[in-house]
Amino acid sequence: MASHRFRYRPPLGKGKFGRVYMVRTKCEPHYILALKCLYKSEIVQSRVEKQIRREIEIQQNLRHPHVLRLYGYFHDEKRIFLMLEFAGKGELYRQLTKYGCFTEKRSSRYIDQMADALSYLHSKHVIHRDIKPENLLLGINGELKIADFGWSVHAPGNRRKTLCGTLDYLPPEMVEGRDHSEKVDHWALGVLTYEFICGSPPFEDLNGHKATYKRIASVDLKIPSKVSAEARDLIVKLLQYDPERRLPLSDVRRHPWIVKYRSKVSSTSGAHA
Ligand code: AMP
Repeated sequence: MASHRFRYRPPLGKGKFGRVYMVRTKCEPHYILALKCLYKSEIVQSRVEKQIRREIEIQQNLRHPHVLRLYGYFHDEKRIFLMLEFAGKGELYRQLTKYGCFTEKRSSRYIDQMADALSYLHSKHVIHRDIKPENLLLGINGELKIADFGWSVHAPGNRRKTLCGTLDYLPPEMVEGRDHSEKVDHWALGVLTYEFICGSPPFEDLNGHKATYKRIASVDLKIPSKVSAEARDLIVKLLQYDPERRLPLSDVRRHPWIVKYRSKVSSTSGAHA
């Protein structure tokens, strides 16, 4: 496979190390893909070779309706090309910015799909560690797809104490520099639930990083009154200081707030269904 085998469309977006194009294979059947081009020089300059290699190794072995597929990769002298599943409705983050927040029904359906995907990842001993709206894409039917495995690890990894991810989604054990496990993703799921419904993450503090850290470490959680009792219950059960006390993902999928809104047609259908 090489870059001339594709017919290119205008770029879908620009990432840190290159552009993402929607492409169609020239040969029959004309597959549609998202081709992510990464510049080797920029990867080396930013010292993320290991991170990119791990991202490719991990994502290539994953197959789940709510995990963005990486079909393969190739490279030339200057660039690395990742052949990714095309997410027809683009970034979830853009939707969140457009609407400010989501209805509880839509939020619940996304969280159900997230819990499904995270259970799968954890069963493969993969911890994502960077769950946030910016790393979620939407398929053509509005179904959620976890993308960007740049910070993911095979658990237990030797980088478990490394501080990474976006501040707002970090759990207390990472803020405090302790060992962490797959339970970091459970915490992030709680943060995501809150952000979907309320429009901003729960521990955001405009006074800066230190203030956010403090709020996370003390689980300074204030849930607005507009949030339903069922959603509140799920958020509180996920945002537990003690990782072991966070609600298991199988229980998230059985939670009344999730079951209530689940589409009868299929649990993998889009949030709009
Ligand atoms: P990234 O380099 O992953 O941040 O991607 C840059 C932008 O390209 C994203 O913000 C998306 O808008 C778009 N994009 C990335 N991957 C895909 C994909 N698989 N399908 C559709 N759009 C994508």
